[in-house]
Amino acid sequence: MQTRFSEGQLADPLIADANRVLRKCVHCGFCLATCPTYVLLGDELDSPRGRIYLMKEMLETGGPPAAETVKHIDRCLSCLSCVSTCPSGVDYRRLVDQTRVHIESTFRRPWPDRWLRRFLGWVLVRPPALRIAMSAGALARRFPGLLPPRLAALARLSPGIARGPAPIVSAGRYPAEGERRMRVALMTGCVQSVTGTEIHEATARVLRRHGCEVVVAEGAGCCGALNLHLGDERAALRSAERSVRSWWREIQGDGLDAIAVDASGCGAAIKDYVHLFRNRPELREAASAVAERAVDASELLSRLGLKPGPARSTVVAYHDACSLRHGQQLTEPPRRLLAEAGFDVRSPSEGHLCCGSAGTYNMLQPTIASQLGARKAANLERVRPDVVAAGNLGCIVQIGAYTNIPVVHTVELLDWATGGPRPPAMSRAGRA
Ligand code: SF4
Ligand code: SF4
Repeated sequence: MQTRFSEGQLADPLIADANRVLRKCVHCGFCLATCPTYVLLGDELDSPRGRIYLMKEMLETGGPPAAETVKHIDRCLSCLSCVSTCPSGVDYRRLVDQTRVHIESTFRRPWPDRWLRRFLGWVLVRPPALRIAMSAGALARRFPGLLPPRLAALARLSPGIARGPAPIVSAGRYPAEGERRMRVALMTGCVQSVTGTEIHEATARVLRRHGCEVVVAEGAGCCGALNLHLGDERAALRSAERSVRSWWREIQGDGLDAIAVDASGCGAAIKDYVHLFRNRPELREAASAVAERAVDASELLSRLGLKPGPARSTVVAYHDACSLRHGQQLTEPPRRLLAEAGFDVRSPSEGHLCCGSAGTYNMLQPTIASQLGARKAANLERVRPDVVAAGNLGCIVQIGAYTNIPVVHTVELLDWATGGPRPPAMSRAGRA
C-alpha cells in the first residue's frame, strides 16, 4: 500500500513503524473472509483491508479522525484473525493499537460513550470496586427492560453477587507437591481475581501437582490489556508497571522460572511488554525479563509433561480464544493436553471466528457481540459436547451467556483429570 507521510511525520518513530506496516499490505483481500465483522456485516470498511485504509488516511492527515472512521475502528474486535491469515505479514495489531490511542487522544466521543469507556477502564482493573459493581449488576439484571441496551449488556455479563477475595489471589507461596521442578508466579490479574478464582485455584493445584512451587507476588495485578484495548495506553502502563515491578522483585529475589498466565488475553499482552515499555528505559530490562517468562498455563503444562489421566467418556468442545490462537499462535498444546488427560476433544467449525467477548467489546458493541456469541455457541453445540473448554475468562462468560452447556477453563479439566475436583460449572449443570 502506498503511503504519503511527510519527512516530518516519519521522524516520529510511531509513524515510521506504522508506515512500515502499511506498506506491507498488498490489498490481496485474503483477510476479508476470516474477519468476523466482515463476515457479519459484509462492508469493506468493516474488514481488515478497509480498516487499514482508514487508519492510513487518519495517520497521514493527523488530527481528530471522522466519526465514521471511529465507528469502523470501534467495531474491530482486535481478534487478530486477519494477522493469522495475512500472507504478507501485516502487523495489524500494532496498527490498530496505535490507532486506538490516536482516537482517544484526539477525538471527542459523545458523552455517554466517553463515560462508559472511562467507567469500564476504571472499574474493571480495581477488584474492590468491581465487586461492588458486580453486585449492582446482579440486582439490575432483574429489571432488564428498564436499562438502556449497553447497560443491559453489562448487567447480563455480571455473573452474580461477588464474594470476598479468595485466598488464592492474596500474595503467598504454595509449595510443590513432591520434588520442586520449577518456581512459578501465578498471574491473578484484575477481573479474574474477582470472578474467576476457581480457575486460579485449578491452575495452582495442577501446577503444584506437577512439581511447581507457585508464588502469587505481592502487588502484581492487572496486566494493562483492558485499558490498552480502550486506547488508554497511559492507564495500561500504570497497571502493567505495578505488575512488572512486583514480578521483577521475585525474579531478582528467589528467581522465577516462569510466569503462568491462565487468561490468554493477559498472556498475549504480557508477551508484548517490550513494546509497551519502549519509552521506559528504566523498566526495559524488567519488562523484557517478565515477557520472556510469561507462558500460557497450557504451554507450561506441555513443558512439564502431563501425568496421564484415565480415559473418560466426557466430550469436550474446545474453543480457541483469539488471544491464544491468533495472539499467541497456540492451537495444539491445549487440545493435546486435553486428549492426553483422557478427554474426547472435538473442534467446532468456524474455530477461527471470535466469540464476541474481546475485552470490553461485548459491553461496548453488544449487537455485534451477541450475534457472534450466538453463532459461536451454535457451532460448539453442533459437536454435541458435555462441556466446552476455553483458555480465557472473557470467552467463558460470553459463550456461557448463549448456551446451557457448561463452559469451563481448560486448566479446570486438566486439574480434574489429574486428581482435582470436578469443575464447579459441570457440577452445577449435573454433567458427568
Ligand atoms: S482484528 Fe479481527 S475484527 Fe479486527 S480487522 Fe482483524 S479480523 Fe477483523
Ligand atoms: S491479507 Fe494482508 S496484505 Fe492482504 S489485504 Fe489483508 S492485510 Fe493486506
